[in-house]
Amino acid sequence: MARVLIFIDNPGPALKKPSLELLTIARSLGEPAVAFNGELKDDVAAALAAYGAQAVYRPSAADLDDYLVGPKASYLAAAVQMSGATIVLIENSTEGKETAARLGIKLGAGVITDVVAVDPDGTAHKSVLAGSYTTTAKATTPVSVLTVKSNSVTPEPAVTGTAPEAVTVEVPETATASSAKITERSEKPASGRPDLADARIVVAGGRGVDGNFGPVEDLADALGAAIGASRAATDAGWIGHDAQVGQTGKTVSPQLYISAGISGAIQQKSGMQTAKVIVAVNKDAESPVFEIADFGIVGDLFKVLPQATEEIKKRRD
Ligand SMILES: Cc1cc2nc3c(=O)[nH]c(=O)nc-3n(C[C@H](O)[C@H](O)[C@H](O)COP(=O)(O)OP(=O)(O)OC[C@H]3O[C@@H](n4cnc5c(N)ncnc54)[C@H](O)[C@@H]3O)c2cc1C
Repeated sequence: MARVLIFIDNPGPALKKPSLELLTIARSLGEPAVAFNGELKDDVAAALAAYGAQAVYRPSAADLDDYLVGPKASYLAAAVQMSGATIVLIENSTEGKETAARLGIKLGAGVITDVVAVDPDGTAHKSVLAGSYTTTAKATTPVSVLTVKSNSVTPEPAVTGTAPEAVTVEVPETATASSAKITERSEKPASGRPDLADARIVVAGGRGVDGNFGPVEDLADALGAAIGASRAATDAGWIGHDAQVGQTGKTVSPQLYISAGISGAIQQKSGMQTAKVIVAVNKDAESPVFEIADFGIVGDLFKVLPQATEEIKKRRD
């Protein structure tokens, strides 16, 4: 049975949904093992066991986080060799993709990014050209490295939990010798809102907000939603780039996506078209966003959003 290694990097107090998805996919491919980095908290260890991890590898060096991704790739390469894994699954984040690329070079392994599904034989499916085509690819090398987009599967614990074996991986001293070191960190202020990538509800604003995300934020807070944005809005500096939804931003698959002042360009659609229910607010009835919306409101977002917020608050209180 193939051994599948999942990289989990600093999850904090609880495993995030994308990691649970990787564990779920790994079980469909073979025997899951985890290459873990960071402090292993009790809840995280319990989740790894519940999701069927057979082994948990941890690096001998505790300072991998003081560097950019180079040393993490060296650690993963050593973990792959120790575990005999033939498939490595990594999150499809920017850092995940860079780690995968470096790991691919170290192992001479084929790397496939932006994966949305994996067959039991390791064939990867990708959604390309802004979601208009699906392609399949399979690495022909002994080890394949796949970065998988979040919201690709529904996380499911294993039928029978495990007691994973704990293994220490010797990270070669040379791993950090010529790597870029992080000299300072500043904490991102907590918004108190859910994570965009796995939020159940997303309220997103585009160029139509004209620099004022206030009504979008008020509606999001009334609904307990995360805030998303089009690239036009993030490029304008009205909101951080981590809020961008779309081809070059995050892919979201919430139960409800409210799009306000966004035209619905193909690059935006590719990041949100799998939302269960899409509500679009746009003052232009011809806007392409209405082609994929389940409910459309032709109107000024500065009038529609505050009314919706008020009504939701009234019903909630
Ligand atoms: C390689 C590449 C990658 C890209 N990646 C992404 C991506 O990841 N995500 C992304 O979003 N875009 C991406 N883009 C950009 C994309 O093509 C569009 O330019 C962008 O999505 C447009 O953003 P928008 O809809 O907010 O702005 P616009 O297209 O300018 O639309 C603004 C909309 O707001 C409406 N509006 C204006 N005022 C109001 C009001 N008061 N009330 C209600 N409606 C109002 C208008 O009718 C209009 O439909 C990418 C482009 C390229 C080339």
